[in-house]
Amino acid sequence: MNAPMSTRCCIVGGGPAGMMLGLLLARAGVDVTVLEKHGDFLRDFRGDTVHPSTLDVMGDLGLLDAFLARPHDEARHLRATISGQQVGLADFSRLRTRCKFIAMVPQWEFLDFLRDEAQAWPGFRLLLNTEGTGLVEREGQVVGVEARNAAGPLQITADLVVACDGRRSVLRGAAGLTVRDIGAPIDVLWMRLPKKPTDPDGSGGYIDTGHFMATIDRTDYWQCAYVIAKGGIAAIQARGLDAFRAEVAVTVPPLADRVGHIASWDDVKLLSVTVDRLAQWWKPGLLCIGDAAHAMSPIGGVGINLAVQDAVATANLLGRALADPAVDAKALTPLLSRVQRRREFPARVTQAVQVAVQNRLLTPVLQSGGSGKPFGVPWALRLAQRFPILQGIPAYAVGVGVRPERVDYLAPPV
Ligand SMILES: Cc1cc2nc3c(=O)[nH]c(=O)nc-3n(C[C@H](O)[C@H](O)[C@H](O)COP(=O)(O)OP(=O)(O)OC[C@H]3O[C@@H](n4cnc5c(N)ncnc54)[C@H](O)[C@@H]3O)c2cc1C
Repeated sequence: MNAPMSTRCCIVGGGPAGMMLGLLLARAGVDVTVLEKHGDFLRDFRGDTVHPSTLDVMGDLGLLDAFLARPHDEARHLRATISGQQVGLADFSRLRTRCKFIAMVPQWEFLDFLRDEAQAWPGFRLLLNTEGTGLVEREGQVVGVEARNAAGPLQITADLVVACDGRRSVLRGAAGLTVRDIGAPIDVLWMRLPKKPTDPDGSGGYIDTGHFMATIDRTDYWQCAYVIAKGGIAAIQARGLDAFRAEVAVTVPPLADRVGHIASWDDVKLLSVTVDRLAQWWKPGLLCIGDAAHAMSPIGGVGINLAVQDAVATANLLGRALADPAVDAKALTPLLSRVQRRREFPARVTQAVQVAVQNRLLTPVLQSGGSGKPFGVPWALRLAQRFPILQGIPAYAVGVGVRPERVDYLAPPV
């Protein structure tokens, strides 16, 4: 049996948005409690990318060197192999950010790091194995969270609840906020293949007639993301595992010699892709950010960055008010709409670009399977090979994005 708890700000969800916001608010002197339904951050199927603009945020916080001291790879270029031809997609060395690379770090390492830093601040509390199940509302104002853990139900009262519980957000559903489905014609099959010492290092993408696969270099294995048409898993499974292994081998010839490691369908996880956005990200006492406000497609690997940028904007706009005990819960409401006004534009533009890539590149690739013709390098990419300076544009879009945020409230060091 849990005793009721009270906190100034209760964040539900310990992903990139929730953990970054927890750290920033704790630094600002706010009493903040983060609920995470899992017992650790050790889950797969999450992005592995920490982008230059997030690294700038880490620099603002004085944490960049400590973060980069952890094991990571530095992706300075993004390349793809299209029908056997190597092409450069993005060149991060052209950026004007502190770090001219994407740090490839398993997401659990990033979240562990944020947790360790946040726990140095007295106002920070992380409740693992604690799932937010609903909202406590009084006279139209959200005044807390219903949760549960191994000891049973738990009620936490809070002046502000921030839903960072991802694209299947329970809290946004409980709040009755309207979700607009923008549509994703793809799903992703996620699997591991062994890496050999002779393999070239670095993550990449392989496009061939009818197939697209991204290979993420995890040092001792390849994390592979095989893109399929939405709902296409049943047809793939009906063709059988041997046919699937053969498809993977054709798509990524350098890994053809080890597709036998896909021993059963248990080794292939289906990740359903969603792109959606809330019409309104808040109601009195509640704010949604990150995927809970705008679920991102994996295209460009920008979802973590957007979630972090939302957290920075939220802390910039709300940190001082939350740290001031004289500001009551109702006085916070106008600031919630300001977070949406600031962050909705970047989310909209990024989702529009993702949808364009889904519809104009990935769908034609997947549909090219029946044509028998090799999938050609699109003209824009051919141009970017002739004029490599153009590879700075996708580098900026992916590495920095629309309206990057910088931490403007810096608490003194611990
Ligand atoms: C297949 C796929 C691949 C992707 N690859 C990349 C990539 O390479 N790079 C990239 O930047 N983005 C990638 N993305 C997008 C990225 O994963 C998300 O945009 C990003 O993680 C959003 O962060 P978040 O903190 O808002 O939510 P999440 O990362 O979803 O975190 C939500 C957290 O809340 C917890 N939680 C959920 N419900 C509750 C509850 N009721 N109570 C308590 N805790 C709860 C969850 O356990 C989780 O820890 C990918 C997405 C997909 C689908």
